Amino acid sequence: MDSTLYSRVTPKSVANPDILLLNDELCADLGLDTAELNATILAGQDLLEEPIAQAYAGHQYGSFTVLGDGRAVILGEHVQDGTRYDIQLKGSGRTPYSRRGDGNATVSSMLREYLYSYAIQNLNIKTSRSLAVVETDEAVKRRRTESGAILVRVMNSHIRYGTFQYVANKASDELQRFTDYVIDRHYPQLHTKDRTYLAFFDAVMQSSIEMVVDWLRVGFIHGVMNTDNMSIDGETFDYGPCAFMNFYDEQTVFSSIDKHGRYAFGNQRPILRWNLERFAEALQPLCTQSALTYDELEGKLNEFEDRFDAQYDTMMRKKLGISSDGEQELVDEFIEWLRKSNADYTNTFLELEMPGTFDSPVFATAEFEQLRNKLAAVGLDEELMQEANPRYIPRNYLVEEALDTYLETGDLSKFKGLLTVLENPYTSKDMGSQFQQPPPREFDSEYTTY
Ligand code: AMP
Ligand code: MG
Ligand code: MG
Repeated sequence: MDSTLYSRVTPKSVANPDILLLNDELCADLGLDTAELNATILAGQDLLEEPIAQAYAGHQYGSFTVLGDGRAVILGEHVQDGTRYDIQLKGSGRTPYSRRGDGNATVSSMLREYLYSYAIQNLNIKTSRSLAVVETDEAVKRRRTESGAILVRVMNSHIRYGTFQYVANKASDELQRFTDYVIDRHYPQLHTKDRTYLAFFDAVMQSSIEMVVDWLRVGFIHGVMNTDNMSIDGETFDYGPCAFMNFYDEQTVFSSIDKHGRYAFGNQRPILRWNLERFAEALQPLCTQSALTYDELEGKLNEFEDRFDAQYDTMMRKKLGISSDGEQELVDEFIEWLRKSNADYTNTFLELEMPGTFDSPVFATAEFEQLRNKLAAVGLDEELMQEANPRYIPRNYLVEEALDTYLETGDLSKFKGLLTVLENPYTSKDMGSQFQQPPPREFDSEYTTY
């Protein structure tokens, strides 16, 4: 990669780093020996080689901006069993791309990222993973003043739609070299196809559609779908003001900065398409240098609605335990019921599978029973449903309570308890547990994430 794409940066020095969380399973996947890892290493102190902060650009809330890792550095690639991983430190200090930011992260936001990435991973959705949270003894001022922390983040790739936008904007003659590099690293099988660049766009589109449909499956709201937060490998990442929806409402927004609901639950689909359009524009300079034409890219974009529909409908039928291809009318009727009833999204599917589990009044109506009977006649296949419907999601109020407990008392046991619940979100037998209860409706209507 060319050096216009990154800057060498030494992570800030930290005194008395302390490991709060270490992901044993991820250590094992990476072939790392936990006994050899300590807080100093995980905080990026005394490195043999200077890491890099990546340059990128992106549409933030619709406006194009030149950016880069403002508080993160990539230590390098780690290869294990033939798979390449990027290892990144987040919260590691200022970089040439920090603009007015301090380069720091608060301990609560890094604990939050650890928990949400852990939940999404265990829900079988492609995501960045968190190897460790290391607390530092500096004071970081946000809404409240807290300790700082460094998160060790692992991804197949930290390359985003926005990296392409940066390259195309800066020096379009580099774009072909950069695209070839990305295809080599992430989509090597495409090199044997004769329309490699078109196949690349197609593959990025497909992996992104699969990712967003998975979010809709579990009720996840990413919160900041700026093009710099869209991975070219379909990995969910940048867990900032994200949250899970409880009561079904497509307008649901929790992010404090998303004033107009651009990234609301139900807008994630049209925003993905909008982002893919920006990605296609970034690839446009390739059209003069190769056999690719912009018409072909637009042709792919025009397939978006049909492909998203197909992916979404298959997903929703699975959630309803319908193994056949049809029943679209019934599925639509069910979604209409969700919209009208405002029922808890997660628990609705559990209640369909195991009636009587939850005592919410919405499930005690004749309408729900009739709908359930109709669904039972064609679907509600348990095996299908159990793979698609989580029994546990991170409930916002429980996450906040656990974080507050840690900040106020230094006791992380509540937080770790939540991680244990989220370890096997599909298989727990403990139905009706407190971890499955939605918050009071007032909590969600006032809840904001940062
Ligand atoms: P995000 O909204 O998390 O994708 O962040 C947008 C951009 O702001 C990214 O380039 C980040 O690296 C940068 N950024 C966020 N927080 C900070 C911070 N505290 N200091 C420096 N840069 C930051
Ligand atoms: Mg980001
Ligand atoms: Mg962020």
